Amino acid sequence: MKLTLVQGDITEQAVDAIVNAANSSLLGGGGVDGAIHRKGGPEILAECQALRASRYGDGLPAGEAVATTAGRLPARWVIHTVGPVFSRSEDRSHLLASCYRESLKVADALGAATVAFPAVSTGVYRWPMDDAARISVTTVLRSESNVREARFVLFDFAAYEIFDRVL
Ligand code: ADP
Repeated sequence: MKLTLVQGDITEQAVDAIVNAANSSLLGGGGVDGAIHRKGGPEILAECQALRASRYGDGLPAGEAVATTAGRLPARWVIHTVGPVFSRSEDRSHLLASCYRESLKVADALGAATVAFPAVSTGVYRWPMDDAARISVTTVLRSESNVREARFVLFDFAAYEIFDRVL
């Protein structure tokens, strides 16, 4: 698998699948989630609502991943994953690693060859960027997957620099 880094907006990536840092309700939020629903249109939310009414009545648990259409976005699918909220008293890094592993499994099941990831949990969920970068990069590099390119899309230059250093 080729690992690439770009600074930019994940909603603009022309890849097979983009990963959403969703919350467990799957019904939208701020940050990446808000941007994806805003630009992707109502089709994504409709599929999320259907998932809530069927497989995920209690919401999508942290560390798991599920795909929907990408609506009007250039990507074909959105893979929704729920990052853990950062905690100083409890080590939740296994859940953050699981987001990347499970997203790649969903990508494999879809047949997605190119996947773009945001820095899951580093926004509203407050995970320190350098630690998140270390966990994300090592997890993706160690994953068995048919994905050809895993692209990390960092919103600002500071985050890009941290991922670049970790890589
Ligand atoms: P979480 O709730 O998992 O912390 P957020 O969406 O709040 O998710 O933030 C995750 C990361 O995504 C943050 O580093 C934030 O700066 C970044 N981000 C926000 N919008 C975008 C976007 N459109 N494309 C890529 N990254 C984004």
